Order: sequence, then structure tokens, then C-alpha cells
Amino acid sequence: MTLDLFEKFNSTIENFNQLPKGELNPFTVSMDAVISPTQAIINGRETILAGTNNYMGMTYNKECLEAAELALKNFGTGTTGSRVLNGTYNGHIKLEETLKDFYDCDHAIVFSTGYQANLGIIATLAGPKDYVVIDADSHASIYDGCAMGNATIVRFNHNDHENLDKRLDRIRRKDPDAGILVVIEGVYSMLGDLAPIKELATAAKKHNAYVLVDEAHSIGVFGATGRGVAQEQGVEHLVDFTVGTFSKSVGTVGGYCVSNHPKFDVLRLVCRPYVFTASLPPSVIASATKALELIKNSNLRTKLLENSKRLNDGLSDAGFNVGTTGQSPIAAIIIDQQDTAIAYWQKMMQNGVYVNLAVPPATPNGLNLMRCSLSAAHSFEQIDYILEKFIAVGKEIGVLK
Ligand code: PMP
Repeated sequence: MTLDLFEKFNSTIENFNQLPKGELNPFTVSMDAVISPTQAIINGRETILAGTNNYMGMTYNKECLEAAELALKNFGTGTTGSRVLNGTYNGHIKLEETLKDFYDCDHAIVFSTGYQANLGIIATLAGPKDYVVIDADSHASIYDGCAMGNATIVRFNHNDHENLDKRLDRIRRKDPDAGILVVIEGVYSMLGDLAPIKELATAAKKHNAYVLVDEAHSIGVFGATGRGVAQEQGVEHLVDFTVGTFSKSVGTVGGYCVSNHPKFDVLRLVCRPYVFTASLPPSVIASATKALELIKNSNLRTKLLENSKRLNDGLSDAGFNVGTTGQSPIAAIIIDQQDTAIAYWQKMMQNGVYVNLAVPPATPNGLNLMRCSLSAAHSFEQIDYILEKFIAVGKEIGVLK
């Protein structure tokens, strides 16, 4: 008998089949129409979007839409090619120039997604004789970048600079000349906590290691000009590579890496997730460029952090077990049982609120979360409605006493 290649997925299939079909299934949500960055029609119902990572509400920004429309008209729907062949248009170069200006950096490379940026940078920079030292709570794209490369991978405890120091010390004793890349995130996406970049990067520098910070959830959100947590904490000089995405505060899709390393641009020739894939379409490039210009000088950050505080404080005051620190636009309620979390999610949807049901393996420490990511485009009325429904449903299903 031929081996069924899908046999290994049997338990996943069984678990999925136990979930209800249709609108009560948390993993098959489909938007019928999108009204604004914070509202959509889902299952025929007007729904507040409270889990889209659309931090700045850029998806419907008038100037971004106009830039995208113009590019679509002038350059077509797609490039149909790699950046190193036919897929580089003036727009791609302008976007990379805009990123250099945004980060005040010498070099910038744009990838087709943030996931590919992490895959490409980590797998290419760290070779067989090198080490990648990552935070245990790293995003899947960081883990996958490690899996794709040939370096030795070492994990350190989440946000623990003493543990990082120990790991690096051990590597250096064994291998005094190895190249080491330490990878951390500015904001951790599930619980919204910030990395203590100064402490972590100082430990890295003590052992002559490079530092990469993934600012996917912090570009636009933190720092005087929106560069992220490293800017907010005044430690950009300790960071060698910044990775990020256009799929959150920038409101479109795409990834990037910026750096001052003088040889950085060689990556355009050797980084496979950059070379062997089609470049981003002109409309995406144009709206990302415009969004970066707007984000740099935006006062939306203040409104976003006010919104975040309102929801995080409201959830804490109501007595929820919040995993989040209230430091970022991410708010998450920890739910003990996965069945309860699913029921909670379903009832929130029926009440017109979309949040993320986040469960393992996407979450750290096996947590089940009702995760929200707020936008500067949310009104206080919307935040209060979300809070009101969290409390009412929480009482109904026994999460809140
Ligand atoms: N890094 C982190 C920390 C992320 O949370 C994400 C997206 N969830 C990515 C990278 C990947 O970004 P993209 O959506 O552009 O692939």
C-alpha cells in the first residue's frame, strides 16, 4: 500500500472537523465587504474589526489610494518578474530610497513579504560556521529563516538579557571567531510586550555579535518618527539590521531590511527569497511609499496609544486575565480552555466584533488568547463597544465572575 503523505495531518484534520462549519468557524472568516479600516460586513453583519494589525488605518488613506491607482494605471497590475531581471521599476527604487530616508540608513532592500525578509536575511547572513541566537518567542518567519539556513541555532529565554549573555558566552568559549546574529523583535505580536533592546543588544555587542530587530509590529507605532522600538528606546546605534513589513501599519503588503553595513547590497545577488520570486506590484509599491512618507510625520501615534490604553485599562479594570502589558496596541485576554476561547470568539462575532482567536502553535507557552490589535482609526465609541461586548460575553460564558 502506498504511504499516504497526508497521514501526518490526521490529528489536525480531526481537530478541524470538530469545529462548526460556516460562520462559527474561527479559521474560515471571509469578509463580504470592507467598509473602512475598522469596519467590514462579515456573514451579512456589520462588524468592528479589532484584530487586523492595521495600526495606522492606512488601507483607506486617500493619498495612498490615489498613489496606488495612478501606479496601477501607469505601470499595470504586476511586474511579472524578479527584482534582478525585469521586476525592478523606478517605483521599487524610490521605495528603497524612501526607506533609507525613513531610517536614516545607507542601505534598504524590499522583499515581497515580511516573512520572506526574515527568511532571506537570516538564512543568507548566517552560514554553516555561524550561529543565530533567537528569542524563544520569535515569530514563525524567524524560526523558518533558521530552518532554511545552515547555521547553528541557539534559543534564549524570552526578553532575558542575562540568559542571552550566558548563551553567547558559551558560544564564544567554544568558537571565538564564529559569526553570530542575535535576532529579537521590537514588539512581540501575541502579547504585545516590548523587547528591552538596550540590555539585549548590549549583551550581544559584548560578545561581538550582530543584532537584528524585527520591527514588524512597531514600525509606525513607536519612536518619534515611527521607526520602531529601537528609536523609542534611543538605541538604534546598537542595531545592525532592521527588518519590517508593509502588511501592518503601512497598510499593504511587502517586507524590508535596512542596514548600514557597507557590503549589505550584495544580498541582492545571493539572497534567494529576494532573487527567486516576483517583485511587488507597482500599486503596492506606490501606496507603501506614500504611507511611509505620511507615517514619518504623523500624529496618529498619539491617538493609537490613547486607544490602546483605553482598551487595555478597561480590560484590566473589568478583572480579565490580560496577558498584555498595555505597552502597545495589542491587547490579549488569556482563556484557560481552548473550547471556552472558541465559544468566546463565536459570541463576539455574533455581537459584531472581530478579534483574533490565537491558539498554539501561534502563541507562546501554549496560551489561548482573544487577541486585539487596535488602530488609530478606531473611535473611542468603537473601543467602548468592544469593551462592553467583552464584558457582557465574558460574564455570559463564565470567563468573568
Ligand atoms: N515578523 C513578525 C514579528 C510578524 O508578526 C509578521 C506577521 N505576522 C511577520 C514578520 C511577517 O510579515 P508579513 O505579513 O509581511 O509576511
